[in-house]
Amino acid sequence: MNKVAFIGLGNMGKPMALNLIKNKYNLNIFDINKKLYEPFKNTKATIANNIEEAFKNSRTIITMLPDGKSLSKLVLGKSGIINYIKKNSIFIDCSSIDYATTLKISKALDEKGIKFLDAPVSGGVNGAKKAILTIMVGGNKSAFNKSKKIFSCLGKNVLHIGPSGAGQIVKACNNMMLGINMIGVCEAFLLANKFKINTKKFYEICSKSTGSSWAMLNHLPIKGIVESSAANNKFKPGYAARLILKDLKISNEMAKSVKLKASMGNKAHELYKKFCNADKNNLDYAAIIKLISKL
Ligand code: NAD
Repeated sequence: MNKVAFIGLGNMGKPMALNLIKNKYNLNIFDINKKLYEPFKNTKATIANNIEEAFKNSRTIITMLPDGKSLSKLVLGKSGIINYIKKNSIFIDCSSIDYATTLKISKALDEKGIKFLDAPVSGGVNGAKKAILTIMVGGNKSAFNKSKKIFSCLGKNVLHIGPSGAGQIVKACNNMMLGINMIGVCEAFLLANKFKINTKKFYEICSKSTGSSWAMLNHLPIKGIVESSAANNKFKPGYAARLILKDLKISNEMAKSVKLKASMGNKAHELYKKFCNADKNNLDYAAIIKLISKL
């Protein structure tokens, strides 16, 4: 039986893994945080006691980890999983990580006869729960074609972009826009409020006007208006500020490497860095409104 080894059961990994189970995939699940196994206890998923066990009878691997450093350590580090993965397996990394790490891992796995796809996702926790994620894929086209069925259980808009790393390039550019947009939403809502405009009415107008954005429609940093907003839940993530900081660092470095002056991306990076340095890493990224209101 071909089982799917699913590694990383955090805010995104949990609903994604649950959707695969719902679609009758047999999963071996693993996370370094054992508390995250709770929602899987009444499912058919096999909880791996250690990372090696996660690869038992598995030729498909999915990772949903915080960053490139964690993926690199997991795959190539001391007792790295590169030693357990069977030849001809397909390794799908759905995490958002830097391009250089993607290329390094893809090359190392390719040398072992394992096909690696970078397949970062967009759509947030809500998109993951509803299996309507956008998935941008880089890597071997035939491995992509073989993985279409599994992708269809996770997302709706699934696109092969190009060679290895292409998915991560698109993701970093997308999240650069998201970070800039979120800061714009915060500034505009704070400004309207200073002029005593009713926030709900402002939202109603802007959601159907040219200033609208995904950040505003889904992650409005004000509570009580948008159902999926982390503001309704004391800014519990969602999408943690530490993660957008990582993404903005990646897009900044990409811009530097091609000598593109991305001044808005730079500014967004600077503001999120300041926010995270104030010990707010684990608040949702929409909580940046707290910092902006004090600047
Ligand atoms: P998260 O921090 O909630 O989850 C990451 C999980 O990986 C944690 O449970 C952690 O314990 C686990 N982990 C770390 N190292 C591990 C290891 N060596 N072995 C096993 N498990 C390990 O993060 P998330 O919000 O689920 O995001 C995951 C990835 O998806 C990130 O790269 C993020 O940037 C990206 N992403 C997040 C969102 C979002 O809205 N949260 C949306 C799109 C993309």
